[in-house]
Amino acid sequence: MPGSADTLVPVEVTFFGTRGSCPCSGGAYQRYGGNTPSVLVKTSDELIVLDLGTGLRALGAHVSSDHPAGGPPVRATALLTHLHFDHIIGLPFFGPLRHHDSVFEVYGPRQPRGNLDSALREIVRPPFFPVQLDTLLAELRFHDLADGDHFAIGDAKVRARTIQHPGTTLGYRIDADGRSVAYIPDHQQVGEGEPEDDGALELCDGADLLVHDAQYTDFELSHKPKWGHCTVDYAVNLAVRAGVGHLVLFHHDPSHDDEMLDRMLERAVELARPSGLRVTSAREGETVLPGGR
Ligand SMILES: [Zn+2]
Ligand SMILES: [Zn+2]
Repeated sequence: MPGSADTLVPVEVTFFGTRGSCPCSGGAYQRYGGNTPSVLVKTSDELIVLDLGTGLRALGAHVSSDHPAGGPPVRATALLTHLHFDHIIGLPFFGPLRHHDSVFEVYGPRQPRGNLDSALREIVRPPFFPVQLDTLLAELRFHDLADGDHFAIGDAKVRARTIQHPGTTLGYRIDADGRSVAYIPDHQQVGEGEPEDDGALELCDGADLLVHDAQYTDFELSHKPKWGHCTVDYAVNLAVRAGVGHLVLFHHDPSHDDEMLDRMLERAVELARPSGLRVTSAREGETVLPGGR
């Protein structure tokens, strides 16, 4: 679409799942939400889904319908970071898969043994799930990615880099409609004296929006140093170093209630203040505009 950035439809990023590791429900999780990672990036011509956690069910209802007979078909593309349960468990609950005119392209990390397609079909089948993935009516296509791969989804440019986290894990950067979004939901904090995570820095470089792991406090990290995640301070430091415009704290720990997440956000805002970095914390149902206020 020609024209200046002013005339472009703004890219929208909506959070349907913000919680890491395990879904949770109840009054303590009301404001930030309890579903596991699933985020919708809406560009001028594409629907891009980031991860397939339990939030994917509501995301499907949002882009189609929750009607028991199914809603209108949907054409969408998913970028899957890795195959831990919290990032894939929503896949068979994505309503548009029940429509034979829907098309769902799923990109994710190539597995050490077998491919993405066979790995997911191994999980979505009896006895783990009532039916096999093949019985869902939509056209479902899987694409294996490796570190450094880049490709296009419509007019959006996507880049994948390996991120430090147990198992094969990717982070993504999407450049579309003059805006850039980096997504790194699970990120093992680099310890002192360990090599820099170049992939993460490259994806974040000058991004308008960074959605990043911020699961732990310093105290929690001291007890879980190699559990695959990082602190709020680490996320802020990475965002500042990379010149990010807006950092969204993400992958909230199941043990953190709304008040705790408020306190973690306050700390992050305080840390980021001298740099001018904007920091918010992901809330289920919220939409943010990369490059906007
Ligand atoms: Zn996770
Ligand atoms: Zn993980």
